[in-house]
Amino acid sequence: MSIASEHLIEIRELVKDHLEHRLDEKLSAEREQLLMQQIRGRLEQENAVLVAHYYTQDAVQDLAEETGGIVSDSLEMARFGKDHPAQTLVVAGVKFMGETAKILTPEKRVLMPTLEATCSLDIGCPIDEFSAFCDEHPDRTVVVYANTSAAVKARSDWVVTSSIAKDVVSYLHEKGEKILFAPDRHLGAYIQNVTGADVLIWDGACVVHEEFKADGMRHLMEENPDAAVLVHPESPAAVIELADLVGSTSQIIDAAVRMDNRKFIVATDQGIFHTMQKAVPDKELIIAPTAGHGATCYSCANCPWMAMNELEALAEVFEREDNEVFVDPALGERAMLPLQRMLDFKKQM
Ligand code: SF4
Repeated sequence: MSIASEHLIEIRELVKDHLEHRLDEKLSAEREQLLMQQIRGRLEQENAVLVAHYYTQDAVQDLAEETGGIVSDSLEMARFGKDHPAQTLVVAGVKFMGETAKILTPEKRVLMPTLEATCSLDIGCPIDEFSAFCDEHPDRTVVVYANTSAAVKARSDWVVTSSIAKDVVSYLHEKGEKILFAPDRHLGAYIQNVTGADVLIWDGACVVHEEFKADGMRHLMEENPDAAVLVHPESPAAVIELADLVGSTSQIIDAAVRMDNRKFIVATDQGIFHTMQKAVPDKELIIAPTAGHGATCYSCANCPWMAMNELEALAEVFEREDNEVFVDPALGERAMLPLQRMLDFKKQM
């Protein structure tokens, strides 16, 4: 069993714990409205901006939009936080997103509703093992996904998000470079397949996307022959093969707007449906199947860590003292180089 597979077993236990915790908590409509009002006021008083990911709960996405922040994918979150004049960024997402914001803007205060919201890809790629893996392959350009710790980014040559990974690897391949890619094995295999590059892949996975099932997808496609299939590249290869479009969360939303279909089967976290449905109010969105026949799912297309960005925690984000993101300055400087390389590459596209 690989190191990353061992981590995955541990990660699945964590996901189960989070799911049980989540079932216990449901806010009343009144309480939700009260908290939202409170959060709007506190963001204004603190002159802070809310930067939220598409996978956070609907109310958090609404708050980000209403208050002049942003709801987006991790690349756009990073760019927006860096360019925004606010000195305090409130990042509703998972830990690596807060760290990325801090690395790009070390002078700003970066707060998160909770620093415990992490990611199975980040957990499955510990720096010591990863660094040893890189040392074994010194001839390869190290490309890491944004869903990694600051230390892993600092060990890399390039950071990529799912919206830009294919283009960066294609560019490096054309220059004759061999790639070491981490941590998502499905995204790595997809990139290898579409670019033809020589890619050595770390064995990590996203607990949400890994659960999409090709068999269930085929049934759903038979029942909905007019639907286009939109798949995030963290999904297994058998699911990707069925896709009409493979892309990041932003690319999935753009495709739903652009394509003529009235119906879409979507293989990514269900949180995206809130903003996506606003973009295509007259189209039907169907979540891709995760459970298969008689099986159970761990995440059920809902990231347990994204769900930790609860309104209660967001309402206290300025009061608590345990939720500011810090990155060691020397580490941050090293991680900044591959991150900035990605942002510069994006500008030239
Ligand atoms: S959805 Fe997957 S990749 Fe995204 S934060 Fe959750 S575990 Fe990580």
